Amino acid sequence: EMFGQLTTGLESAWNKLRGTDQLTKDNIAEPMRDIRRALLEADVSLPVVRSFIESVTEKAVGTDVIRGVKPEQQLVKVVNDELVQLMGREVSDLVFAKTAPTVILLAGLQGVGKTTVCAKLAYYLKKMGKSCMLIAADVYRPAAIDQLTILGKQVGVPVYSEGTEAKPSQIAKNGIKEAKSKKTDVIIVDTAGRLQVDKAMMSELKEVKRAVNPTEVLLVVDAMTGQEAASLVSTFNVEIGITGAILTKLDGDSRGGAALSIKEVSGKPIKFVGRGERMEDLEPFYPDRMAQRILGMGDVLSFVEKAQEVMRQEDAEELQKKILSAKFNFNDFLKQTQAIAQMGSFSRIIGMIPGMNKVTPAQIREAEKNLKFMESMINVMTPEERERPELLAESRERRIRVAKESGKNERQVSQLVAQLFRMRAQMQKMMGAMQGQDTPDMEG
Ligand code: GDP
Repeated sequence: EMFGQLTTGLESAWNKLRGTDQLTKDNIAEPMRDIRRALLEADVSLPVVRSFIESVTEKAVGTDVIRGVKPEQQLVKVVNDELVQLMGREVSDLVFAKTAPTVILLAGLQGVGKTTVCAKLAYYLKKMGKSCMLIAADVYRPAAIDQLTILGKQVGVPVYSEGTEAKPSQIAKNGIKEAKSKKTDVIIVDTAGRLQVDKAMMSELKEVKRAVNPTEVLLVVDAMTGQEAASLVSTFNVEIGITGAILTKLDGDSRGGAALSIKEVSGKPIKFVGRGERMEDLEPFYPDRMAQRILGMGDVLSFVEKAQEVMRQEDAEELQKKILSAKFNFNDFLKQTQAIAQMGSFSRIIGMIPGMNKVTPAQIREAEKNLKFMESMINVMTPEERERPELLAESRERRIRVAKESGKNERQVSQLVAQLFRMRAQMQKMMGAMQGQDTPDMEG
């Protein structure tokens, strides 16, 4: 089972949170230790583990409790989001040259699956409707040229080779000339692999790179080598400058350390993963799918996401109702004053409503202060006056009475009445912004 250990380790962490009602620094400490151990056992590089644990802890403790979502479910979501982030968030697509041909240079140590990747990638591109050519620039192993030729035939893609006598950079140049004459879309250059990183390999690679000016330089690494794969990607990037990695043999990897470490350690994304020996076993690398596979909790994730969505909608609807009810009279206003004032999340909610981000925190604070001030005067109004603000607008006597009883002056009461009407207009404007250009819906 892929990532089996990691998944089990994470599961035990969730179990420790069962029965708690909130994520706190204290109660997640032990689960976080489990997650840390699981990641280290998965051969994720230590600095990556450290920063991962730190940011999960911070985010988990800082998240708002979502109604109906248990703490352990919430933690699944936080861990998932951080895993996705760790692996680069988005799928990193292959980059194509603005004017054809696109040249892809493949590098990698011996035995990692580089030759296989050449053919798999050609097969993948062919399915995309691109014409391809493979160039065999691995001159140290005649068998490698033969193997590439055989695989090329298998996927129906021409293979350019000059045997083992010529210089790799020259072979590559000649191959590209040939490919251009055939109007080939994508050229994949297979370079020599060694058993380990050495100066000769690096300088040869640099030379080939200079000669072919590639759009993509991809390092093929073996998932089974764990964090070593990540440091190789880093080394190759520093030495020759690469654009990404291809992670092979993911089907045989039960730990996941390479997949989790590469982006963070090297700064370069994984662009493709190999999951088997067949030509169709190469696919783009999707960080979100990988995270779900690691966690094995896709159902929990979609549940939490749905709950978050529902909460966002309910908050927005509640706010909308409050604003609308403010249209009616002082009575509704009084009822809502407290609720709105207590909504410390007022500004947060406003930020969540599309189109309302333009309301500044200062404006919101001002609105909240106004509500409090109004409250003291509304408190002394008769039920009738609250019901019909017009009564106060029309009668000076009433305004004087309200002023006296609330300890304010007549001018302030007049201002309050005027302010009520003004705020109605303001809130309608806010509603307008919320609902696009539509006029506010009056049914509450
Ligand atoms: P190279 O020396 O880097 O060119 O490696 P090869 O392409 O010759 O591959 C070495 C071995 O790994 C071959 O037996 C391949 O079939 C196998 N291989 C390559 N990619 C994968 C993969 O994604 N999964 C599995 N299970 N085997 C693979």
